[in-house]
This record gives sequence, C-alpha cells and structure tokens, in this order.
Amino acid sequence: MRAKAIAVFLTALTVIGLSGHPLCAAETQFRFQDNFWVNLHHFVRAEARRRAFNAPLVMPMSALSKAEKATWSSAVDAYADLAKLSLIFDERLVRINNALASQGEAAALPEGLVEPGVLAALNRAAPIYRAHLWPEHRRLNEEWIKATRPRVEQHAPALTGALADAYHVQWPKKPILVDASCEGGPVGAYTTGGPPGTAAHTVIAPSQVHDPDAAFEIVFHEASHSVDDQIMKLIDAEAVRQGVKPLPNLWHALLFYTSGELVKRELHKEKDASYKPYAYRFGVYDRGWQPLRAGLEKDWQPYLDGKVDFPHALAKLVADCSTKEEAPKKPATPL
Ligand SMILES: [Zn+2]
Repeated sequence: MRAKAIAVFLTALTVIGLSGHPLCAAETQFRFQDNFWVNLHHFVRAEARRRAFNAPLVMPMSALSKAEKATWSSAVDAYADLAKLSLIFDERLVRINNALASQGEAAALPEGLVEPGVLAALNRAAPIYRAHLWPEHRRLNEEWIKATRPRVEQHAPALTGALADAYHVQWPKKPILVDASCEGGPVGAYTTGGPPGTAAHTVIAPSQVHDPDAAFEIVFHEASHSVDDQIMKLIDAEAVRQGVKPLPNLWHALLFYTSGELVKRELHKEKDASYKPYAYRFGVYDRGWQPLRAGLEKDWQPYLDGKVDFPHALAKLVADCSTKEEAPKKPATPL
C-alpha cells in the first residue's frame, strides 16, 4: 500500500523543462535537446572563423541563389567579432547561447532576446540554413541523442554519485542542459554556466564525438565541469598548504582521469583490455600533459582503488604535479 502510494506520487511528480516540456524523473539530471537556433549560432560563428583563417567553408555557396549568397555573407560578416571570442570564457557568447537554447523552432527570434546585431543576423540567416543544411544537421543530432541519451539516463544516478564522491564535491541538483550541435568549438564539446533552472550548459558536436563510448564518457566529463570550480579550490588550498604552484591544467587532467576511470567501472569494462578512457584513446595526455598523467597514475589511481584516502592522495598529487612558488624577481610591470 505504502509502495503504491509512493509510485503514484512519483508519477505525478514532473518537472517543467526550459521550453515547457514536462520532464520525467530520469531526465532531471541531463536534458538533451537539438535546437535550431543553437545550431545556427554555432554554425554561423564557425563559418566566420573558417573564413577568417581561409579554411574551406561548409555552407555550399554554389548552391545558393545570388540573393541568398548576399544575405548569408552579411550574416557571417556580423559574426566576425564573435568568431574571435571564446565560447567558454566570453560572457557575451555564453549569454547568447543560453538565450537561444530556450527558443523553439519559430520562424524568427523575438526582438530583445539577444543583442540586436546578432538577432538580425540570425533571423536573416535562418531561412537559408533551414533550406540547405539544417535537415542533415538535425538528422545527425537526433540520431546521436537517440543513441546516447538512454545509456546516460540509465547510468546517471550511480555515476554522478560516484563522481561527486571521488571529487569530494556537491553535485548540482538542477539538470545539465546538453545541446547537440553541428559545431562544438575547437575540441567538439564545451560546458558553461547554463540558463535559469539548469546547473550548466553543455554543447557537443555529434560529428566530432560520434563513437558511442566516447560520447557517453564526454557527457560525464562535460558534466564534471559543472563542479570544476570546487575541484580547483581543493587543489589550490592544498597547493597553498604546501607552498607550491600546481601545474596548469592539473584540475582538468584530474577531471579527465577520474571521469574516464569511473565511466570504465560503471560500464564494467575494467577487464576489457581493448577499452580505453577518452584521454588515453584520443591522445589528450600526449600534448604536454605527460607529467600530469604520470602523477595521476601514481598518486590518484590508488585513491580511486580505495587504497589511499582523499587528503593523502591529493597531497601527493599536488606535491608531484607542481612547481615551487617563487617570489617575483622584479615588480610586475602594469600592462
Ligand atoms: Zn574538459
């Protein structure tokens, strides 16, 4: 009787999502979407970057009418400055991305949603993108979501709990918005603060993260960025205690290593010699992060294996992956 009452209560308990869709309980940790405006914004920005670097454009310009070509080029022109800014660190781009993520596929964006120049450029570009590329981009995004979401939702409660325990952080209560997008920045995925009602906003390009195991791991790696400020604080506090300076990206390598190891365990791949966590498989540690990988294998793996406690493992890791703090030799010159 009691169990039945709880079941009825849970069925009634739904959460209203960003665009008004009711979310079931399984969706409350991650909310996947394939959003026209998020895709268009990232695509126009990427085309502006390609044009700036004389790289081949993806929009099939020869298939566009003369009027479409002029309109499309003016939209790309409007993104020339935005193309130079960081998708992760620039507040302007983060604000635009979060505002667009709440829009359905209306014919045009409403006035005031984002800054006027960007709004006008996107509204001009929309019919052209919709006619020439969006059907294919949408198909790829939806296939990726269909392949990725069920496995993420199945494992999310256990895996986010294990990650929070391993990092010694509080996992966010609000959902993480995951946008599948035709472009996902320089490495194909990134995470920023999210729109109201979310803990973070991840953008992933299915074309760059298409392998199913890599896609699964990257969702949880990106989700770990929602707590990266807490991880940095723990590392910095330990470094201050030791009077050392952590190597740049120690926090990020720790995040890659921990999410890779815990994903491997959650998928029961520990004994599968052919399974490699993302950072090993795709050479993340091979681009100047070798000392970080060595420190993590030596000092952090025993902690993840339950052989060393968190404070001791963190102390050893910071000691092995840092440089001695040195007083500046001459006063810093103001820039
Ligand atoms: Zn990362």
